[in-house]
Amino acid sequence: MTLVERFLKYVSFDTQSNEESGVTPSTPGQMVFARFLKEELESLGLEDITLDENGYLFATLPANTDKPVPVVGFIAHMDTSPDMSGKDVSPRIVENYDGKDIVLCAEGKVVLSPAQFPELLDHKGEDLIVTDGKTLLGADDKAGIAEIVSAIAYLKEHPEIKHGKIRIGFNPDEEIGLGAHKFNVEQFGCEWAYTMDGGEVGELEFENFNAASAKIVFKGRNVHPGYAKNKMINSIRVANRFISMLPGHETPEHTEGYEGFYHLIGITGEVERTTVSYIIRDHDRVRFENRKKEFEHLVRKINAEYGEGTAVLELHDQYYNMREKIEPVMHIIDTAFKAMEAVGVEPHVKAIRGGTDGAQLSFKGLPCPNIFAGGLNFHGRYEFVPIQNMEKAMNVIVKIAELVAAQ
Ligand SMILES: [Zn+2]
Repeated sequence: MTLVERFLKYVSFDTQSNEESGVTPSTPGQMVFARFLKEELESLGLEDITLDENGYLFATLPANTDKPVPVVGFIAHMDTSPDMSGKDVSPRIVENYDGKDIVLCAEGKVVLSPAQFPELLDHKGEDLIVTDGKTLLGADDKAGIAEIVSAIAYLKEHPEIKHGKIRIGFNPDEEIGLGAHKFNVEQFGCEWAYTMDGGEVGELEFENFNAASAKIVFKGRNVHPGYAKNKMINSIRVANRFISMLPGHETPEHTEGYEGFYHLIGITGEVERTTVSYIIRDHDRVRFENRKKEFEHLVRKINAEYGEGTAVLELHDQYYNMREKIEPVMHIIDTAFKAMEAVGVEPHVKAIRGGTDGAQLSFKGLPCPNIFAGGLNFHGRYEFVPIQNMEKAMNVIVKIAELVAAQ
């Protein structure tokens, strides 16, 4: 099977994950897909193939050199986003894209246009795989899986390329933030790994946010409004005062790059009791800690004003920036850089304004930067992937395997 045939086969599986199910994998379709992949890996002649009850599929391509070479892994996720259906995906290949509008679905008037998506023009003359406008495509992250499997098949067919032991890992439930939770890093047994889960060609990510969630409960005192003078405490107003004490421009809609923020994600309230929820994000660990301290400080201020116990703060760290785990092993970034350059891809380092499975894996002891898989417009009907992007990603994987063994 070719890379494209693989990809088209993989997107025919409905593997949408589900935040509410409470089991792993979160949907049975992911296990169906995992079993299919397991058979494919067996037919490719890989070794140590394991599929555990949670849907984590691991396999080994043994070394073809006697030289001691570190064991490196490649990881991709099998699920697709809960944001849009991934059932009955009906992809189409637009060959030699001419730079004009692509009608995905005439009856639904769904058009993939460079007017809304100017990045399309970077792929003029290439062959794009698009949706029929009714589902997402699933290039996130089945492009990653197809690239890894195809790279492994290529290495098997080309024994003249010397490489060490390569591990591959396919996990469920990345899109609901649970891809790394039950990932058995010890069993995977790699010195480091790469997730193939980024977007545009050249993307290389090894920095993400430090993240915390905060909930503040404000207690009020309700009194008949006609007799409320000097007695009533309206918890909605107290909450509003707290919100207004935070810097008004440190919000997602006013920040980019390495700028952190406080993001108000929820508020429910009445006079007696108001609950306010935030997420706190910053790439820099010190600034992240200071943001949390600012919350504590403001809560103390509210309590000094309205009485002890008026505001109660709950803070929880969610994940951390993987940079601190990557910095001691920067050679794994250098290798990815060199591999990209060797296959004609210009590396483009980007700080993720979010989290990744790789960040969690890095903190579980498996340093794990993220490399492009080549798709664009993830999680919706406008998702597409240039075939040339997937080929480049596959070449990067092959080249990394080769470089690690040559060093
Ligand atoms: Zn993904």
